Amino acid sequence: MDGLGSRHGLLHAVRGVSFAVAEGEVVALIGANGAGKTTLLRTVAGAHPPAEGMVSYDGADLAGVPAHERVRRGIALVPEGRKLFGELTVEENLLVAGRRARPGPWNLETVLDAFPVLRPLRGRLAARLSGGQQQATAIARALMTNPRLLLIDEVSLGLSPKAVDEVYANLTVLRDRDATVLLVEQDLNRALAVADRVICLLEGSIVLDRKTAAVTRDEVVTAYFGFA
Ligand code: ATP
Repeated sequence: MDGLGSRHGLLHAVRGVSFAVAEGEVVALIGANGAGKTTLLRTVAGAHPPAEGMVSYDGADLAGVPAHERVRRGIALVPEGRKLFGELTVEENLLVAGRRARPGPWNLETVLDAFPVLRPLRGRLAARLSGGQQQATAIARALMTNPRLLLIDEVSLGLSPKAVDEVYANLTVLRDRDATVLLVEQDLNRALAVADRVICLLEGSIVLDRKTAAVTRDEVVTAYFGFA
């Protein structure tokens, strides 16, 4: 994205944001509450219109491309709060997402192989899953579309520490398979552990963009809280 800005009415939630995610890269977007992380992710997914600048993907400007068409082109969003169909089973949630899937390696069987925790739960209603199981289902559901870019909002929000461990085990599986992921994470340690690169937003602008191998935790904390 280049010079991207997004507004909520008068509020300039994202300002002048420019970065690119390389194929096979896992990028963690961090920042305090209200820094603009969710708005940025939703703008990339086509769920929120940009106010200025542009999002490009595969060499094409995505201006005016609706969210469903972005999914078709390979951009999948795991939204904040998971947003599963509670009255459908795990398997039905996965199959619904897979109905218009792009061709690719992911289908019901390969997704259940990658996330074995879901296999015994496939007949369970999504509304009856624990938070961690719901997050695993939501990530698996996004994979069913065979995305080339996976956007995951608030990976560990509202989950128990054990559930967060499980979800991160799933993310490690994806990283090892060279998935391209842009994730939002409030937990710095988790973000630094899983990502190749970390981008920190402060009041809508990028204040740090660095390979995790080339940044110290102190530098990230400083950027996160905006100390001088
Ligand atoms: P959080 O971790 O709290 O979700 P965030 O970094 O994801 O924070 P956003 O949710 O993108 O931040 O919010 C950025 C700013 O935009 C905040 O000031 C927020 O109050 C505001 N905002 C977000 N959504 C809306 C909305 N639908 N209407 C008005 N203002 C909004």
